[in-house]
Amino acid sequence: MATAVSAEFPTGLLIGGETVAAASGDTLAVVNPATEEEIASVAMAGADDIDRAVRNARDTFESAAWQRMSARQRGERLYRLGDLLLEHKDELTRLETLNNGKPLFESAIDLNLTAQTFKYYGGWADKVHGETIPVDGPYLNYTLREPIGVIGAIVPWNFPMSLASWKIAPALACGNTIVLKPAEQTPFTALRMAELALEAGFPPGAFNCVPGAGAVAGAALVEHPGVDKIAFTGSTEVGIRIMQSAAHTVKKVSLELGGKSPNIIFADADLDAAARGALSGIFYGKGEVCAAGSRLIVEKSVQDELQGRIIERAKKMVPGDPLNPKTRLGSLVSRAQMERVLGHIASGRSEGATLLTGGERASVNGKGFFVQPTIFSNVDRGMTIAREEIFGPVLAIMSFEGGVDEAAELANATIYGLAAGIWSRDIKKALRAARAIRAGTVWINTYNMYDAASPFGGYKQSGFGRDLGMHALEGYMQVKSVWVDLS
Ligand code: NAD
Repeated sequence: MATAVSAEFPTGLLIGGETVAAASGDTLAVVNPATEEEIASVAMAGADDIDRAVRNARDTFESAAWQRMSARQRGERLYRLGDLLLEHKDELTRLETLNNGKPLFESAIDLNLTAQTFKYYGGWADKVHGETIPVDGPYLNYTLREPIGVIGAIVPWNFPMSLASWKIAPALACGNTIVLKPAEQTPFTALRMAELALEAGFPPGAFNCVPGAGAVAGAALVEHPGVDKIAFTGSTEVGIRIMQSAAHTVKKVSLELGGKSPNIIFADADLDAAARGALSGIFYGKGEVCAAGSRLIVEKSVQDELQGRIIERAKKMVPGDPLNPKTRLGSLVSRAQMERVLGHIASGRSEGATLLTGGERASVNGKGFFVQPTIFSNVDRGMTIAREEIFGPVLAIMSFEGGVDEAAELANATIYGLAAGIWSRDIKKALRAARAIRAGTVWINTYNMYDAASPFGGYKQSGFGRDLGMHALEGYMQVKSVWVDLS
């Protein structure tokens, strides 16, 4: 049964190329977090819908049409999808901003990276191939690199378009088919991306998109025996649950999880650049960024000067209407997330950290789930705000005096290992620190840089497997060894 599709928002499930209602008829109200208004209600997939989507993806994967489609043809379609995203830039960035609360300029950055990701993997599609291996004896031995099958992709709400593309693009490039479950808060751009994939020439069923609740639709996808791999981005807590339940069907799993990333500033850094990097490291994306530089680790001799610069700039970062192109700080994604962040701020206060600026809820025209840019100093490594991922605009400043060794020790004092920043004019010192830090990405004299060609993923409890770059391809194919007797 087809749902009424609103002029502005995609509101159905996209299964087998058709927009359909959930079998149960359930829908979920989607809210614009900057105005607190309901903007659409979207079909909520249940286990039946997940089953239907997986069967479609499986049938498509096994169909002659899909199996006959050459790698080059898949690549051309991926490239076309990248172009279509750029052609729909205004629509998609507006949808992302209305849905997530991030400013328009950030949605535009996400859109560009998303389009770049599809084009990058479009380029890879016909460059993935096996080897011939010089084995003993009169044998020809060669390898085939084959797709895994049906990929269940589960993504969070902070970068709805780009994080989905990081999984879908390499998966399609390698010849897999997809069932994507976007976060319940942010379904719109994922659904539009799946619609545009049809326009780009992917067959119905190659890329299905099924919004729904994590505990229902997400769990059903993870448990479904017809899914060969789960590619997940989200919290460490849910990642652990996914690993456990994927074990029953021996599914392959890749996990991109949380972070508590250190941003280290040495006394010999360009302090102006470092102050700017410290701020964008934590306040870009309202701090709802897995790689947010949420622990600022500053050499004591420059701490006062640096804090002065940071506070002055932070006070000028006033939250604004995300649809205004000039706005630099948007609304948090939901009331629940805002309350979680305010709870962390309260714990920072009660555990004895010094609040330098911010610390309160904010609003635009009296509405919205905004939080002021918030900075704490005198943070001890044992405090909750130094250990737990806050996922909001809250910076914890700590200091060190013992050079690279102490800075790295403090940086590594976390269960996470997603990213890190290092600021120094001494390149040898910076490179020594980069080696000593256990994280999947290290930025030197910059922060939050991404490129479709450069791998991204976690050490320690930030997960395993890599998104982006050639490294992501490994996660979407398997190797078959073929022996031929030539005697
Ligand atoms: P979350 O783990 O609650 O949800 C992520 C996704 O998992 C959503 O689609 C949700 O519906 C689904 N889900 C929830 N419970 C599930 C279950 N039992 N089974 C299957 N799926 C389930 O995370 P969130 O709050 O939406 O997102 C924030 C988290 O994502 C943060 O911890 C952040 O660090 C992390 N993140 C990591 C990266 C990275 O690349 N490492 C990038 C962005 C965000």
